[in-house]
Formats: sequence, structure tokens, C-alpha cells
Amino acid sequence: MHYGAYMADKHKILVVEDNSDCRELLAIVLRRSGYEVAEAATGLAAVEQASATHPDLILMDLGLPGISGDEATARIKADPSTRDIPVIVNTAFNNGTLVERALAVGAAEIMHKPISFEVLREVVGRYLSSDYTFNRSLSCANPQVLRSSDQTTLSASK
Ligand code: MN
Repeated sequence: MHYGAYMADKHKILVVEDNSDCRELLAIVLRRSGYEVAEAATGLAAVEQASATHPDLILMDLGLPGISGDEATARIKADPSTRDIPVIVNTAFNNGTLVERALAVGAAEIMHKPISFEVLREVVGRYLSSDYTFNRSLSCANPQVLRSSDQTTLSASK
């Protein structure tokens, strides 16, 4: 494969996470999986970067300083220029209003922390594979909720 073409074809993922250790680890794992990774530590930065750089996928934490991840998701989905970007929520909240709102405003999927690297790669790869077409109505009406039974965790792997 031509190196230049490979670089140009890299999918870009925006990792939104306020815990710097967790964010850096996610970024490392995703970069090693061949993705270009941008990072945001707040919900507002996520909205701004989504608009400015239009990543192919957003990994969204919910508990964030300033506006929370569900609000950031709502703003991204309300903007015609960014609403097509799949938002995958990555959160320690198992239930409750933040998760419900994130799904209601258009998050494609919920991943529950702690997640395994295998689940992370599987989910991200599914959205960024060449034959994947984002279906907003399907994602809103019938979100897939994944729970990892794998005990290999982000926190344990630090
Ligand atoms: Mn957080």
C-alpha cells in the first residue's frame, strides 16, 4: 500500500474525555489501530472541534466539565454540518437521564466503562468500515447497548 494514500485514507476519531489518563490511553489504542485521533477535554471543545474538523466518528464521555456529553451530543446533532457524524457514548453511568438524553438526541450507541480494547476496536471498526452507512433513524429508534464482560479495563491497564 502506498504510504501517502494510506495516510490520506485514515479515518479521524474525536475522543472526548475529561480524564487525561483515560483520554490518552484511548487515543493510543486507537492510533495503534490505524486511526487519526483528535482529543477534546470538555463538551464545548467537542462541539467546536466537531464543527471545525468534521471527524468520522466521535467517542463521547458524558460526565464533562461545562456542558455534559449529552448536551454536546445534542448540539452536534442539531448542527446540519455535524449531525451525520456517529456519536458513540463512553460512560460509567449505567442508566439515568444523561444516557437516556444522549440516546434521545441521536447518540448511535452506548458503551459502558470500563470497556475492553477489543470492544472498543470492534465498535469503532463497525462504524468506520467501508460498507457502513450511518442510519440516523435506526440509531435513534433502536440503539444498541453494549456491555463488556471482559475484565480488561482502561483503568486496570494504565
Ligand atoms: Mn468524565
